[in-house]
Amino acid sequence: MRLVRTTLIKSQLAVAVVFVVLSGSARAQEFRLTDTAMKEAFITIPAVLRDNFQDFVVPQVSADASIQSFCSQLATTYATFKWKPAEEGCGTGNVPWRSQLRSHGGSPLIYAEFGKGPSTTLILGGVHPDELTPIPLVFKFASHLKDNPSLIPDGSRVIVAPLVNPDGFFKKGASRTNGRGVDVNRNFFTQDWYASAKHWWAERRQRNERHFPGHIPNSEIETLFQIWLIDTFKPDKIISIHAPLGFYDYDGPGDQKPRTLTASEEKAKSLVQTMSVSSRNYKIVDYSFYPGSLGNYAGNERGIPTVTLELETTNPDKINEYWRQFSPGLDHAVQYPFVNQSAPKAKGASLFLEVYGRKTARLTEPAVAVPKL
Ligand SMILES: [Zn+2]
Repeated sequence: MRLVRTTLIKSQLAVAVVFVVLSGSARAQEFRLTDTAMKEAFITIPAVLRDNFQDFVVPQVSADASIQSFCSQLATTYATFKWKPAEEGCGTGNVPWRSQLRSHGGSPLIYAEFGKGPSTTLILGGVHPDELTPIPLVFKFASHLKDNPSLIPDGSRVIVAPLVNPDGFFKKGASRTNGRGVDVNRNFFTQDWYASAKHWWAERRQRNERHFPGHIPNSEIETLFQIWLIDTFKPDKIISIHAPLGFYDYDGPGDQKPRTLTASEEKAKSLVQTMSVSSRNYKIVDYSFYPGSLGNYAGNERGIPTVTLELETTNPDKINEYWRQFSPGLDHAVQYPFVNQSAPKAKGASLFLEVYGRKTARLTEPAVAVPKL
């Protein structure tokens, strides 16, 4: 009886805490309270929380070995699609892959950094790995940047993360969702997540498991990996590649506002036109963003120009054709002179570091032992 009562009290406390979570203003504070609420209510759902975050950190002493093993697994999977690992995968050993975080399945979440300077472009692939075609395209673009450093203007930097969701790719047949069945592009903690993400999933997707947004926002390491990249490298523009809807879409400054744009907004918005022109005038649409999506989180809420490139098919045989059509657009995106002035928040505090605190503060330093919890 006492146990029941204690549980009840704790549950009520949790409800109260959750209420504070939903009505609070500071987002980092919300995270801390979410942790507390879950503990108080004895809720155990699969989520990356401060308490288990260390399970998702790659010890830097073994990072190289971990990346090497990942690249071997990638090569094996590539064979089923007749892709070439040296050209369209990890490369020939010359790409400076790094990793600080790892997936639930243990794969390193890799990225590479090219060039130096304050103007930064972030390029993402493999968020939805069953879409297939973006993955070799983004890997190949990393090798292309390594082999042609003169493509990157002085004062510019490019961060390439070609396979954000390796667990989904390494599943038999590949899946849209990650290793825990969450759609990583519906899991970002956007302001409309609690109000809309699950409702949207139930009503608009009939609870189709391919689109499950997660039990709570930011519950997945692949989501946090993208937030970490944004917070750490503070990109002025983001390109994320998907398939098979067949268009470019833009979210960010100057989007969905029927008014005269500032010069900076104008410039941000014309990035997508530049990319389209150099991709044989590929179609541009003004697609709305979803609760929990990157376009909403980075483009809409943080004012970082975010271009989604939707390739036309997921057909793995189309890689060479897509490379010829879209790599000039990616070159232009990297060379597009733009320092984002619309996103003071994105240039400021780091949500990631605020939430996970000192545990991750040193992650960006080279070859350090990961700090203890
Ligand atoms: Zn997609």
